[in-house]
Parts: sequence; structure tokens; C-alpha cells
Amino acid sequence: MGNDLPEIKLVFDEPKLKKKTPRHIADFSPEQRKDLAVELGLPAFRANQVSNHYFTHLSSNPQTWSDIPADLRETLAELFIPKLIELVRSVTCDNGMTRKDLWRLHDGVLVESVLMRYTDRTTVCISSQAGCGMNCPFCATGQAGLTRNLTAGEITEQIVAAARSCASGELPGGPTRLSNIVFMGMGEPLANYNSVMRSLRNITDPNPHGLGISARSVTVSTVGLVNGIERLINEGLPVTLAISLHTPDDELRNSLVPINSRWKVKEVLQAADAYAEKTGRRYSIEYAMIKDINDQTWRADLLGRLLKNRNAHVNLIPLNPTPGSKWTASRPEDEAEFVRILESYGVPTTVRDTRGREIEGACGQLAAAFIK
Ligand code: SF4
Repeated sequence: MGNDLPEIKLVFDEPKLKKKTPRHIADFSPEQRKDLAVELGLPAFRANQVSNHYFTHLSSNPQTWSDIPADLRETLAELFIPKLIELVRSVTCDNGMTRKDLWRLHDGVLVESVLMRYTDRTTVCISSQAGCGMNCPFCATGQAGLTRNLTAGEITEQIVAAARSCASGELPGGPTRLSNIVFMGMGEPLANYNSVMRSLRNITDPNPHGLGISARSVTVSTVGLVNGIERLINEGLPVTLAISLHTPDDELRNSLVPINSRWKVKEVLQAADAYAEKTGRRYSIEYAMIKDINDQTWRADLLGRLLKNRNAHVNLIPLNPTPGSKWTASRPEDEAEFVRILESYGVPTTVRDTRGREIEGACGQLAAAFIK
């Protein structure tokens, strides 16, 4: 499907990229939102009213805000919830149960989110940065480098848009509730720490200050920024931590996940252990299975030995190859043997499903195809 994308040329002009993102209530804590209202010459309670429309009722249409005087509604919407993301294109697969959305930000930058409906849950995978500076060679986003961090408002807007799509029954099966959020789209979430943290509060704060979704339903992935994991430990927010490990040995990891030259496998796992201990949450190890690169039996054995007494779960992800890449997914028999070896060490292991393959499902691929 992605190959049928129309040729559309995007122009990225420098001055536009430097434009500041308009401020949005999702950038602020509930207290700061009230201060903002006062600063704008409004009573503090107006901030709560707008928060309630935005987070509780998922409404961005001021015409429906009947508790606010009609002549004030548009102004409040402009001041508090300016439109930060605009849908450029959606592509679907899995009979409409998977939908990838491409968003244009106010400065022309493109980011992606993916909404996936399962029988028991609906998950959105969102982007925390435009591009990514981590430079993992197997990843489409990594190839393009980092354009900029997203603001908390831009991150939250992807989530609220997904929640709206669920509530309005846009996915087959009728209206549903957005239940899970994963920070596994474009970007390294812990490299944009403050905005990601504000977004996490927006997700987990109860209505009217946030979406009221349990921290346990949120997953934050990282390539292993140990300083970020250490900060997260002290936030008192028990989200699931996902470590994108991809190989258990430093030698290969230095090239597959270049940040490994700063924080080695051992240090990353120690930080994840500390996180698990503090939050009581099992962490996950994400492992892209790449044919003849990281799928050998000796690596499965090393990974099993590393993880056998840890509070960790392994997700094996068949690689979704970047167009033109020399790397591809592991053979099914190698994948099965990898699972068998890990399980022989008592390490819980799941082979992830590969939702969204035919729609440039891996992060960054739709944006890359679109720009081309
Ligand atoms: S795999 Fe993740 S961390 Fe690595 S370059 Fe891609 S988006 Fe960034």
C-alpha cells in the first residue's frame, strides 16, 4: 500500500522550522494552566473548563462548550488548545484494524502515529520526536536524523486524536476506548524527557486534568539512556519500561544501537533492574530479529543467561526492513530456536505480531515514503 503513495514534494524551509510551537494547555501542569488563564486576564477556573472539554470530552470544537459564554469560546480555544497537528494522510490494513496516521506539525515537520485495535484493547503508538538522533542503522527514522523534539502538546495531541477516533467509532467494530499508549514511534522518548514526562502526566492524571488512563497501560521505550531511566525511577509513575536491546553483546550493540558506546548492556540492565525494583513493574526487552546479524543460537544463549534471574520479559520483533536495506527478518526456524533457548532459561518470551507491515509499519517509514 505504501508503494502507491502519491508523489508529493514537501518543502522544508529553515525559517519555518525555527517557528516556535504555539503553547497549548497540554504543555502545562494543572496549576500552570490556571496561572496561564490569570496571565491572560481570565478567571483561573476557565482553564479547568477547557481541560475538561479537551481531556474528558475529547472536544476541540468550542461551539459545543455550553458552560462557557458563547462570545468567549473561540478565544479560549485559540488561547488554550490551538491546533498543533494536522492529518496529512491515513493508511489502513488488517481490515481497517490498523491505521497509520501521518501528521504535519505547525512548521511543516512530519510525524507518525499508529492506532491498532485488538479484541481486548486499542493501542496507539506515538512519536516523541520528529526524526531521531540515535542513528540505529536498521531504522528508517534513524537514517533521517533528528529534526526536533516534539512539545508535550504535540505528543498529547496524537493521543487525544487517537482517543477521539476510538470514541467516534472510526475503527471497525464501533466505538471503543483508547486503552494503551506506547511511546515507540519516531524518536527516543528519554531524549525528550520533559515533554514526554508532561505527556505521561496528561495521560495518567484523572479528568479533567488528564485522560485518566492507568500508568500500567503506558509503555515507554528507550535504547538505554541510563540517565533518563534513573530520572524516571523517581517520578512515581509505574509505566512499563521497554529496553530496545537488540543484542546481548556490546560488540554488536555498539553498531546496532550506537548509544551503547556510552552506556553498555550491563549498565542498561542494571538501570532497568532498579526501575523494576522501585516500581514493581516487570520491564520488557525489545529485540528486533535480524537475519544472520543478531539471531544466532549463541546470542540467544547469552541473552538467556543475562536475563534468567531478572524481572524481564522478551519481545522478539521480526525486523520490518527499511526500504533498500541489506537487512531482513530472521528465518522462522531461527526465530523458533531463539525462543526455545530463551525459554529454557525460564525467560518469558513473546514473538510480537507484525501489525502494519504493508503500510510502512516500522517507525519512520511512512514519513520517509511521503517525503520521497
Ligand atoms: S530504533 Fe528508535 S532509537 Fe533507534 S533510530 Fe529508530 S527511532 Fe531512534
